[in-house]
Amino acid sequence: MDRRKFLMSTVLTAGSVALLGKKSFASLLADPAYQFKPLRGNVGMFAEQGGTIAWLVNKDGIVVVDAEFPDPATHLIAELKKQSDKPFEWLINTHHHGDHTGGNISFKGIAQHVAAHANSLTNQKASAVKQKTEDKQLYPDTTYTDKWKVKVGDERITAHYFGAGHTNGDSFIHFEHANVVHTGDLVFNRRYPFVDRSAGASCKSWITVLEKAQKQFDKDTLFVFGHAFDPQKVTGNMDDVKAMQHFMESLVNYVDSSIKAGKSKQEILATKAIPGVTEWQGDGIERGLTAAYEELSA
Ligand SMILES: [Zn+2]
Ligand SMILES: [Zn+2]
Repeated sequence: MDRRKFLMSTVLTAGSVALLGKKSFASLLADPAYQFKPLRGNVGMFAEQGGTIAWLVNKDGIVVVDAEFPDPATHLIAELKKQSDKPFEWLINTHHHGDHTGGNISFKGIAQHVAAHANSLTNQKASAVKQKTEDKQLYPDTTYTDKWKVKVGDERITAHYFGAGHTNGDSFIHFEHANVVHTGDLVFNRRYPFVDRSAGASCKSWITVLEKAQKQFDKDTLFVFGHAFDPQKVTGNMDDVKAMQHFMESLVNYVDSSIKAGKSKQEILATKAIPGVTEWQGDGIERGLTAAYEELSA
């Protein structure tokens, strides 16, 4: 389903008759449309524009994982305030990219703390300097390097860092009681991923990172993905994590064997289909090919 059709169906299923009584169809389309839904055990998801958000609301506090951009973050904050008057104890960033941290600023004065991997903070600062957006950032005040835990009410949240992947600062954020994990951009579900070598990404290490995730989490874990080709599939299970690992493996193996067979960079980057990859869609196949080529030929 394309984005526009998806937005329309979302709008039309959201109590369309009652809403249409008050508003014109055009004004409905102009309204912000987003997904805000509970998943399991006080944990839910939010998606509007950018990387998917996960949230926790329990009787002691509110936790948000990733922040999209300022406007979506404002919509999310309003929804969460309808659910609870408890404090926003933590905002956690899976990694530094603007579609995950751009909305941090909307939590200024609202979130008590912001946490992220140390490399995510370094990358966020470097990007802000480069893009001259330092005044639009809310930086993490708490950083970690491998594992970090925090308790909010009866929920324990653990961040796991398994090494470089999509950048060098991506964590899995595990709501242990609910058994819901935010993968950040370590999983692009059935969609060609971005691979940010300028921020320390590694295609080879990404495979290992996803292997470790499969050992750490289990068959009952519900996953929230940074991105998906089908906007309905930003959540999933271990099979989707395995599929992402298979994609990264196929990409690395294909580029490696092509280099060894003497193919030119140009030939490799012109690839339209990676052998063994059947489910990945959309544009951007060249992003992974370029990153893998640069990494393997370095
Ligand atoms: Zn993203
Ligand atoms: Zn990203």
